[in-house]
Amino acid sequence: MFKGSKLYSIITGSCPVCQKESIYANGQLYKPSETIKMKERCTYCNTKYKIEPSFFFGAMFVSYGVGVAIAIAVFILAYFFLGFSRLQSFFAIAGSLFILLPVILRLSRSIWINMFFKFDKNA
Ligand SMILES: [Zn+2]
Repeated sequence: MFKGSKLYSIITGSCPVCQKESIYANGQLYKPSETIKMKERCTYCNTKYKIEPSFFFGAMFVSYGVGVAIAIAVFILAYFFLGFSRLQSFFAIAGSLFILLPVILRLSRSIWINMFFKFDKNA
């Protein structure tokens, strides 16, 4: 639907240049050893994902922002809409962040890589 936009690449975790395949080695999001295992290059456009050593170190800063955004969203939902107490809201936030950790990690990497690559419809 948003194919060609950065949003599509970020949400689907696809190659930022051609968006034809996932940048991750496999789809097992909740297997700790596989969560952030990435392919070396895109098999369609040959884009090298890790453009320099420790490239994805920067995704750590993005994950902080993503984590805070999720924490705020969960707090608003739990405290204002579900009527949780502040302590219950705290545990709801902690639980959500723990459960969503693999999602946050991949989302951050996708956001990070999309800051450096542009979609190319001819790739
Ligand atoms: Zn590609």
